[in-house]
Amino acid sequence: MRIEDLDQARVIPGAAETHLRTLERFGLSWDGPVVRQSQRSAYYDAALQQLQAAGALYSCTCSRAEIARAGRIGAEGPIYPGTCRNRRHPLTGPHARRVRIESAPILWQDAIQGPQRHDLAALCGDFVLRRADGVVAYQLAVVVDDAAQGVNRVMRGADLIASTPRQIHLQRLLGLPTPSYAHVPLALDGRGEKLAKRLGAAAVATGDPAPLLCQALAFLGQAVPPDGPRLGIGELIDWAIAHWEPARIPQGSGWPAPPLPHPPQPFCD
Ligand SMILES: [Zn+2]
Repeated sequence: MRIEDLDQARVIPGAAETHLRTLERFGLSWDGPVVRQSQRSAYYDAALQQLQAAGALYSCTCSRAEIARAGRIGAEGPIYPGTCRNRRHPLTGPHARRVRIESAPILWQDAIQGPQRHDLAALCGDFVLRRADGVVAYQLAVVVDDAAQGVNRVMRGADLIASTPRQIHLQRLLGLPTPSYAHVPLALDGRGEKLAKRLGAAAVATGDPAPLLCQALAFLGQAVPPDGPRLGIGELIDWAIAHWEPARIPQGSGWPAPPLPHPPQPFCD
């Protein structure tokens, strides 16, 4: 279990604890202590030092506006045009640090989305590992923490599939193993947006979690026990694990969430 709270300015007090209690209510448990990224900066600094010693980093003094003016847009915003790549700005001081990408595409076999081939030059260019304000990039922290926590299988939302080639690039530079990846489709709202609190989506409902778990299983193409909504949460999770078939998870980045029955009714009968 890992709390990704690197950007302290955006942390909402108490939100992480609420998430942990929600997972427990749904019968989802974890191994070992809860790791908080906000307490692991020494490990991220060590990884930055290692990359710097390998010549993989450089300082970037460009503003967002300068990068946007270069005019190339990738999957997640403007592509960095490499302006500072050979400018030899000192690797001290408050400037952002970028990592050099390579021209060869990054390939992996995604367990749900199939063979993947991503070209970092067309996706983002040399990407930031430490912002000018000192905050370490999510991409670096995740790679360091996955290795430290022994994570060898990653299953996450398809909205993160563009992060995976950046993480594989960093794993290779740092000499860390690459986990296997499986990107599940997202449940979207009627406008095609992911269900996110900042977009006004409701929190996971309180009350009996069993019907919601059945709905989630159905959404992922999984079998649902006929008496699912009436099972205890532990029984339901055990049943779902025993019948788990990743091959039945539909490919794709996401589609509208099934409408919630209102008032809640057994979805899986
Ligand atoms: Zn720059």
